[in-house]
Amino acid sequence: MPKASETILEIDLNALDHNYRFITSNLKPTTRVLGVVKASGYGSDGAEIARELVELGADYLAVAYVNEGVELRDAGIEAPVLVLHPQPVNFDVLIERCLEPALYSARVLKSFIAKAEEHSQKDYPVHLKFNTGLNRLGFWENDTEWITERLSGTSAIKVKSMFSHLAASEDASEKDFTLNQIKSFKAITEDMRSKLGYEMMLHQSNTSAILNYPEAEFDMVRTGIGLYGYGNNPSIDTHLIPVLHLKTVISQIHMIEPGETVGYNRAYAAKGYEKTATLPIGHADGIPRSLGNKKGSVIISGQKADIIGNVCMDMMMVDVTNIDCKEGDEVIVIGEKMPASELAAAGNTISYELLTALSHRIKRVVCRK
Ligand SMILES: *Cc1c(COP(=O)(O)O)cnc(C)c1O
Repeated sequence: MPKASETILEIDLNALDHNYRFITSNLKPTTRVLGVVKASGYGSDGAEIARELVELGADYLAVAYVNEGVELRDAGIEAPVLVLHPQPVNFDVLIERCLEPALYSARVLKSFIAKAEEHSQKDYPVHLKFNTGLNRLGFWENDTEWITERLSGTSAIKVKSMFSHLAASEDASEKDFTLNQIKSFKAITEDMRSKLGYEMMLHQSNTSAILNYPEAEFDMVRTGIGLYGYGNNPSIDTHLIPVLHLKTVISQIHMIEPGETVGYNRAYAAKGYEKTATLPIGHADGIPRSLGNKKGSVIISGQKADIIGNVCMDMMMVDVTNIDCKEGDEVIVIGEKMPASELAAAGNTISYELLTALSHRIKRVVCRK
């Protein structure tokens, strides 16, 4: 790659290939793989990632909302797409674009059956979501009787899979809780299968569960963050390669004197004669304001440069007093030397939030390193 000459987000598809192979090497050969590409592929480019995942052999894709699924269809992606959290207002579009809904409550199930019948559908594939302890979305175990009644009253939809989501699969201290979620999922789905009298896929694992709980593998796994190069655990991260590289440049260098201040609210005051670099990236681009005041840093000429003062909307300033650099030089904000997990932790957040907040105004550049 040539050096960055403006703020860019590189999306390394070879890193994605590597991560996909690492994650799936942990699975039985028959287990299906669902690649999670919600939130524009964790802040990258949903369609580019989806296309590559299909190429790699992924069986399913998932997004959170219907409009994200529409974007994939508009980009020519034909693979099955599970919409994890659809709203009834979008069911017409969902059916027109052949997206597959997660049904997670009585309201949503009733409303989807009505829509599928209105569209004269037969056996439209749906996915039932059960709550086993996350208490976020999903039917409860005592809903199975009612769901079965509803389903046997229509031929418009058919259950293609049943799934649940783990609350703390990355957290070894919550092992008992997680094992209980797995047990509860098994009990619910056995009950549902015997009531419905047909087979469907079961899935419960996200990235950390694939690596920590082989007993939760079932028929398919849903991997998101691991594909993008982060495993919620330093020992797993060593096997993964970051897909996203956020780069920018030095717009301007200032020499400042003792006592001079930098940025809004004069939040930083120079202690001596210092050199600062102003970068064309700010909180509107997704750099959290909480990284200001030396909480976070960037990489310039291979060295760490602290963010000084408050992060502005469109720029931020870093301390380059002891770094050999000049205007126009490349700056690494996220990459191998500054993983999203590390930068996120400095701002009291997690790689998921940092990556998915990267603004659409940053130019995406797809590459293979
Ligand atoms: C986002 C999401 C995933 C992916 O989780 P990762 O930790 O990124 O692998 C899986 N399942 C559901 C229901 C999700 O919402």
